[in-house]
Amino acid sequence: MLSPAAEASDLLRHFGLSGSGGLDSRSPIDGAVIGSVDECTDVEGICAAAQAAFLAWRTVPAPRRGELVRLWGEELRREKTALARLVTLECGKILAEAEGEVQEMIDICDFAVGLSRQLYGLTIVSERPDHRMMEQWHPLGPVLVISAFNFPVAVFAWNAALALVCGNSVVWKPSEKTPLVAEAVLVLLRRAAERFGGVPETLVQVAQGGREVGEALADHSRMALVSATGSTRMGRELGPRVARRFGRVLLELGGNNAMIVAPSADLKLAERGILFSAVGTAGQRCTTLRRLIVHESIADQLVARVRELFAAVNIGDPREPGVLMGPLIDEAAWTSMQAVVPDAEQVEAVAGGVYVRPALVEVEWPDHRALNETFAPILYLVRYSELDQAIAINNGVRQGLSSSIFTTDLREAERFVSGVGSDCGIANVNIGPSGAEIGGAFGGEKETGGGRESGSDSWKAYMRRQTNTVNYGNDLPLAQGISFDP
Ligand code: NAD
Repeated sequence: MLSPAAEASDLLRHFGLSGSGGLDSRSPIDGAVIGSVDECTDVEGICAAAQAAFLAWRTVPAPRRGELVRLWGEELRREKTALARLVTLECGKILAEAEGEVQEMIDICDFAVGLSRQLYGLTIVSERPDHRMMEQWHPLGPVLVISAFNFPVAVFAWNAALALVCGNSVVWKPSEKTPLVAEAVLVLLRRAAERFGGVPETLVQVAQGGREVGEALADHSRMALVSATGSTRMGRELGPRVARRFGRVLLELGGNNAMIVAPSADLKLAERGILFSAVGTAGQRCTTLRRLIVHESIADQLVARVRELFAAVNIGDPREPGVLMGPLIDEAAWTSMQAVVPDAEQVEAVAGGVYVRPALVEVEWPDHRALNETFAPILYLVRYSELDQAIAINNGVRQGLSSSIFTTDLREAERFVSGVGSDCGIANVNIGPSGAEIGGAFGGEKETGGGRESGSDSWKAYMRRQTNTVNYGNDLPLAQGISFDP
C-alpha cells in the first residue's frame, strides 16, 4: 500500500491540482502532510465576485440551473472512487463510508435536478373582490457554506446543490483539516460548468482557512445565508455575529444521540444498528450513537454482546479491506477522549496516526460526561425500567439531533415518534440514529441549532419568500374593510 502522501500526490495530479500553498493538510492515517492549499486573503474580493455571479445566475431559469447540477452529478459519478479515496486520506473514514459520502453528493444532485422544476409557490384566496394573492420563491443571494472535517464533501453538496438550483452563488469555507477534497470538488464543478457553458466564473468559490476566514466571510453583508456545520461552540459564536447584521443562518451543530432498546427488540438488528452507529467514522459523526438506553431485563445480555462486538472491530488503515474503523482525526481528539474515558485504549496500527478501541462506559443517569458530545468512539450505557423514563433520558441533554428506538411493540414505537416522544430532529424506529438518506430534512433541535438541510422542503431556506396581491378590478377596496375616503 502506498503511503498516504504518495497516494494523495497521485490523486491530486489526477484532479489537475498542484497541492501546493501555505496551508498544509495532514492525513490522520499517519499524521504526514499530504498536500497544501492557498489560504484565502481577499474576503472582500470573494464576496464581491459572489454577488456579481448571483446577479447573473438568478436570471437563468431554474430548470436550466438544474442542468448544471445534473452535469455536476455526472462528474461525481465518474470520479466517485478517486474522490472517495481522497476523502479517506484526508479525514480517515474507511473507503466504504467515503464512497457512501460521495454517493450522498450524487443523490442530492439528482434530488436537486428534480427540485429545479418544483420550486412551487402558492395561490391564496383574497378577501377582496377581483383580487388574487400568491406566494413566490425567489433566489436569495450568495450562500456561505462552512463545513466540518467529518463530512468534508457531502455537507457541501447538500447545501450547494440546493443553493444552485435556487439561483444563488456559493462560497465554501471547508474545514481547515480537509482542504484538499474541497479543491477536488471544485474541479468537478468547473468541469460541469464548462460543459454547461456560460456559467459565471465565480458562481462557486472556495475560501480556504481557519475560523478567522469563516468569521470574516460570515460578517460580510453580501452573504445572504450562512449555512454552518460544526460544533455547538462554533454555532454559539457564529449565530449572534450573523444575527447582528440580520443575516440568515442555518446551523447544523453537535449531537448527543441515543438509542432505546426495549424488551421486545429484535436484538440481532439492534446489535447491527449499535455497531454501525457507534463505530462508523470512528465515532466522529454528528449522528454517532453516544447513549444506549437499555431495558434492565435485557441489559446484561446486550452489554456482553456489545463488548464482544467492540473487541472484534478491525481497526487500522482505513484503506485496507476488512478494516471497520480508521484513526481519530488528530491528537486533540484523543486528548478529549481520554479526559472522559481515562482508561481508553490506543491500538497500534499505522505509526503517526491515532487509533483507538471503541469504549463502552456504563453510567448512572444523569452523568455529566454523557451530557456533552465528545467527538470520539465512546458509547455510554444507561439502564431503564419504564419507557417514559427512557424517553426522558433520550431528551435529557442539551442537543437534539438524532434518536432511535428498537422495539417490536407498536405502541412504544408510535409513542417514541409522537409529539410527546423524542424531542430530536430525527427519530427512527428499528434503525440506528446514524446514516440518514437525503430525501428527508436533516437537522436537529436545541443546541444542534434548529437548521434543516437536504431533502423535503429544506430548499426554502435558500430562497426568499414573496407575497403578492394582484388587483384585476376597477376599484381599490382596502383589507379589513377599512374606509379611507377623503
Ligand atoms: P468545528 O466547529 O471545529 O469546525 C467546523 C467549521 O467551522 C470549520 O470549517 C471551522 O473552520 C469553522 N469555524 C470554527 N469556529 C468558527 C467561528 N467562530 N466562526 C466561523 N467559522 C468557524 O467542528 P469540527 O471539529 O470540524 O466538526 C465536528 C463537529 O461538527 C461536531 O460537533 C459534530 O457533531 C458537528 N457536525 C454536525 C453536523 C450536523 O449536521 N449537525 C454534521 C457534521 C458535523
